[in-house]
Amino acid sequence: DELISQIAAGEVVERPASAVRELVDNALDAGATQITVRLLAGGVRLIAVEDDGVGIPPEELPVALRRHATSKITNLHDLEAVSTMGFRGEALAAIASVSETALLSRTQDQANGFLLDARSGELRPAARSRGTTVEVKELFFSTPARRKFLKTDATELAHCVEAVRRHALARPDVGFAIWHEGKLVEQWRATLDRADIDNADKHQEALGRRLADVLGADFIEESVAVQFKLGNATVSGRAGLPDAARSRADQQFCYVNGRFVRDKVLTHAARSAYEDVLHGQKQPVYALFVEIDPLRVDVNVHPTKIEVRFRDSREVHQAVRHAVENALAVPRA
Ligand code: ADP
Ligand code: MG
Repeated sequence: DELISQIAAGEVVERPASAVRELVDNALDAGATQITVRLLAGGVRLIAVEDDGVGIPPEELPVALRRHATSKITNLHDLEAVSTMGFRGEALAAIASVSETALLSRTQDQANGFLLDARSGELRPAARSRGTTVEVKELFFSTPARRKFLKTDATELAHCVEAVRRHALARPDVGFAIWHEGKLVEQWRATLDRADIDNADKHQEALGRRLADVLGADFIEESVAVQFKLGNATVSGRAGLPDAARSRADQQFCYVNGRFVRDKVLTHAARSAYEDVLHGQKQPVYALFVEIDPLRVDVNVHPTKIEVRFRDSREVHQAVRHAVENALAVPRA
């Protein structure tokens, strides 16, 4: 059983950044407004993700670590229309099987927090304000083959930061901080009040500020707002003007229903929109958010949930392409 869970873990946790992504997903699912990530040695020695979300009641702490234990979906119908970041109930179990994991959590109606040591199963009271801290130590200590594939601390750290950056772009209502070896590496403050989360104008404005914080202040000047609806798909975000194009290809962010994805349909659509305005090897900069009926997209394609499959990919392609083309044709405000 230990072996099986370690094999399964390999699919979910490839490197520290994969654990960071899963833990931040969980914090967001728990309704956190502030998420702090602390790392040692690029995340290999320690990943601690701290949130101010709803917390986990003590009796559910051991359950959270069990494989295929999820509090987020209860039946197959839910799986077809999943709205949370997590739903497979695999991440914590996978992470715990290849590290020394501890959960520290407190819910609203508890007088104190509880700490669960995954290894020993020991559960004891511990001080904590409302929320959860997941501590992952010595990742891959029991799977040396996997550990050997890790790159330098600096490279692993860069991947961890990238994982948080992807979340940060999608959630201007949440503050993020990343610490490495006791030093603050990145900090993005919340730019949107929770109360305004459904206000489209305020959301767009906050997103602009967050994009500027994450991608550089220039990006606001050098980009245009994207807002477009076609059929079942709504596309929003910001598209960098041709002048803002970079030689690097790592500033392209696509989201489907709030989830960062790597998807050929989306990147190809964006690429085609830039085709006539971008020359040479330059790469466009953009952050595009596709909202689509959850029944029309399958997010359960891959354990890491980074790939999706659209029911009607032609429609989505067209929506994204037209969205970006329209945006680029609009003169700068
Ligand atoms: P999933 O997110 O797919 O449900 P996980 O293995 O990532 O599975 O997490 C298992 C369960 O643990 C979640 O369903 C949730 O109930 C609980 N959990 C994990 N992290 C947190 C957190 N930061 N705050 C509150 N609950 C959490
Ligand atoms: Mg999860």
